Amino acid sequence: MSSRIRILPENLANRIAAGEVVERPAAVVKELVENSIDAGATDILVEIECGGRKLIRVVDNGCGMSREDALLSLERHATSKLVSDADLDGIATLGFRGEALPSIASVSRLTLASRENSNLEGTEIYSEGGRIVSVKAHGMATGTSIEVRGLFFNTPARLKFMRSSVTEAGHVGELLVRLAISRPDIRFTYISDGKSQFRMLQGDLQSRVSTFLGNASLHDTWPVVFSGENISINGLVCGPSLARSNSAGVYTYINGRFIKDKVVHHAIFEAYRGVIDKGRFPVLVLFVEMPFSEVDVNVHPTKHEVRFREQGKVHDCILSAIGNVLSQSPWTKRSDQQSGNKLYTEPRPEARRLSEVQDALARYDLSGTAKLTGFNPGSRAIPTSTGGLFYKNSPPEDDSDIDNKGYYSSLAVIGQYKSMYIVCQDGVDLVLIDQHAAHERIAYQRLRSEHAGGSIESQMLLFPETVELTYSEAAAVREHEARIANLGFEIENFGGTTHVIKAVPRLIASAGYLSAFREILSELEQLSRSVKADQLLDNILARIACHSVIRGNHALSLPEIRALLQQMDTTDFSATCPHGRPVLVKIALPEIEKMFRRSKSGVGE
Ligand code: ADP
Ligand code: MG
Repeated sequence: MSSRIRILPENLANRIAAGEVVERPAAVVKELVENSIDAGATDILVEIECGGRKLIRVVDNGCGMSREDALLSLERHATSKLVSDADLDGIATLGFRGEALPSIASVSRLTLASRENSNLEGTEIYSEGGRIVSVKAHGMATGTSIEVRGLFFNTPARLKFMRSSVTEAGHVGELLVRLAISRPDIRFTYISDGKSQFRMLQGDLQSRVSTFLGNASLHDTWPVVFSGENISINGLVCGPSLARSNSAGVYTYINGRFIKDKVVHHAIFEAYRGVIDKGRFPVLVLFVEMPFSEVDVNVHPTKHEVRFREQGKVHDCILSAIGNVLSQSPWTKRSDQQSGNKLYTEPRPEARRLSEVQDALARYDLSGTAKLTGFNPGSRAIPTSTGGLFYKNSPPEDDSDIDNKGYYSSLAVIGQYKSMYIVCQDGVDLVLIDQHAAHERIAYQRLRSEHAGGSIESQMLLFPETVELTYSEAAAVREHEARIANLGFEIENFGGTTHVIKAVPRLIASAGYLSAFREILSELEQLSRSVKADQLLDNILARIACHSVIRGNHALSLPEIRALLQQMDTTDFSATCPHGRPVLVKIALPEIEKMFRRSKSGVGE
């Protein structure tokens, strides 16, 4: 009777491992570049075509391999990095399983060329689906070049999971950013479809970070230096001006390895509590070094998770490392100096002209959209010292044209409270309206209908604004060009990550377009990861609407309040509000009576 249990053929085992180790092109690039780093390379070139589906090439100037080693490297569990069990407890290199090369080879057509410094010539090995087809001598510089073509050509199921070329190329870019931040001493070049995406010269951490975050980051980054028992923490933290709407700017590393860990993130967000607004995320780079015996990185092949022996201790050390820097609020000191300059020197003539023109535009804008905005910051109504406004001459019953009125227009206006809330009467009930929320809602609705009809109304900026984007923001601009244009932005690339904003949605043309633009980019960056495009569009429109509302208190005159209420009638308030905040609160008479402990029968209207 034959045995039913068989040892898997080597090639099949590799392909199964490939499913785990290389689920997408970015994972292949990660393994190859980590090998280059482990090989001591100081210059690494990554080139991909069609998001990596057609070609992934990684070329390094590291130590290279002899012919025997090059052949061995394609064998499963062949590694030069682990010799004994004991080594497992002290993994200093990025790779250690000896799984990556054979796995990648098993699902692609792979050409490996490598030359050790001590050899006069190198070796080139070509393999198809993991079977070595040819081995020959190859003239080349010291180092290794690995070319992966036709990734997943023999695993169609995998191929189906690949996203668009742009999305995959974006993942590769983000992965390279993570690696490049961890090693500012290595030169990195990334080319996708023949176009250079970035070229990182050797430098220090701050200059490297600024190439990804934009030069503006240089003015708001602060070094972190901390050392405790068995732990040292170094890196850079950014001040509140660079905070983002997602956690993509959080780069954390344990012993040189990029990780995403709940304990570490918790400590970071805890340290930033009160420094940046709730719901915003900091930008920072943190390198935690600790004895290998204190942390297990051998949790998963993609190796983003770690396990700490003493997680409480790690948490507290990170908290104090960042807390020490943030508690001094270094950014306030620097910005004090800056604003000091502005206060005591006359604005330059062109700056003054700019502000005059912007003022004029803002006024023009308001008159042009008075119906929409409903209220006017230059209101003629006189606020009381408590911010309340009372219309003594407009008794609730005083309504001149009652016919054809919508709900909001039919409300009797009592006055304004704190220059923020409109107080009305609806029959016998009291109605409070949050004027900011109302304004935002109206703007949101208008943006939605403009967008549905083609594109959002745009306004040219008088002075185009140059912005330095981060690498991933610039990628989002490239990928979502048409989307961004439909949102009313006109953006031009000025080389590298420098962009010029030429036109912006009209609603935010007088202020707020820059932060709105950056928030939109970070929303768009998420689109490559999630699928819910409709939800995303809503978020984006809500953000533009949010920036179109001038914050602070605004005293409104009675006609302005009426105009706002009229606008509200033409707006669909039934759908969920952009921020989920209520626009209107109604307090029924019985509730008010209850507050004053009056009985229903006791008091008439
Ligand atoms: P691991 O990195 O886990 O050891 P890999 O399959 O990624 O396993 O690589 C196998 C071996 O091939 C490595 O241990 C290393 O000796 C060699 N190798 C791979 N890539 C390179 C490279 N770019 N330069 C020099 N040696 C390399
Ligand atoms: Mg490796």
